[in-house]
Amino acid sequence: MNIILLGPPGAGKGTQAKKISEHFSLPHISTGDILRENISNNTSLGLKAKSYMSRGELVPDELLITIVKDRLSRKDCSEGFMLDGYPRTIPQADALQMILTESGKKLDAVLNISVGDEELVKRLSGRRMCKCGASYHVSFNPPKKDGICDVCKGELYQRDDDKAEAVRNRLDVYKKQTQPLIDYYDKKGVLRTIDGENDIPRIFEDIKEVLEQYE
Ligand code: ADP
Ligand code: AMP
Repeated sequence: MNIILLGPPGAGKGTQAKKISEHFSLPHISTGDILRENISNNTSLGLKAKSYMSRGELVPDELLITIVKDRLSRKDCSEGFMLDGYPRTIPQADALQMILTESGKKLDAVLNISVGDEELVKRLSGRRMCKCGASYHVSFNPPKKDGICDVCKGELYQRDDDKAEAVRNRLDVYKKQTQPLIDYYDKKGVLRTIDGENDIPRIFEDIKEVLEQYE
C-alpha cells in the first residue's frame, strides 16, 4: 500500500510511522530525517537545507521533489511506501502525483493526524531525540533513564527547530502552506482523518483499522 502521513509538526507522525512501518512492513520515508542526515554528513544538500530548517521554514520544493523522486524509485518501495513530512505544499503534491503516474502507482490513503495548537506546542517543546533515530517526550513518552536513550544508551538532545521561536514559525508555515493539502486530498477521495489528541496506542489502533482495508 502507498500512504502519506499528513499533519502539523508534533502531531505524532514519526511516532506512529515507526509502528506502522513495523506492523505493515512499509518503508518509512521521512523527508525531515533525510534532510537531517544530509546536514550531519555535511553534504551540499545539507548545506542548502540547514538555514531554512533552523528557522522553521520549508526547504525549497525543487530540492524535496528530487529527494522524493529518487527515494521512491528504490527497490524497497516497489511493494509500497509511507511518506512522513512530504508533501508539505501543493506543488510537492502535484509533483508526487506525476512521479506516481509515471511509475504506474497510485496513492491509497492520506492519514491526516489532527491535533490542536496547544497540544502541539507541548509535544514539540518536550520532544527529545537520539542520534539512533529514537524519539521521546519528557512527560508523555519519557525514556527509562532521564536524558538517555532506551535503545542505544546515547545522550538525548533537543532539535534546534523545537525551540520556542522556530516552533511558532513552523506552526504558521504549516497553516499557510501545508493545511491546504487537507482539502486537496479530500477532493481526491483519499483523506482519512485520525484524532491525534488520543494517547499513542489508541491512535495506532485507529490507524490500523483504517489501513487494514488496503492490505
Ligand atoms: P511529528 O513527527 O508529527 O513531528 P512526533 O512523532 O515526533 O511528531 O511527536 C512529537 C512529540 O510528541 C514527541 O516527543 C512524541 O514522543 C510525542 N507524542 C507523539 N504522539 C503523542 C501522543 N499521542 N500523545 C502525547 N505525546 C505524543
Ligand atoms: P520534520 O522532521 O518533518 O518536522 O521536518 C523538519 C524540517 O525539515 C521542516 O521544518 C522543514 O524545514 C524541512 N522539511 C522536511 N520535509 C519537508 C518538505 N516536504 N518540504 C519542505 N521542507 C521540508
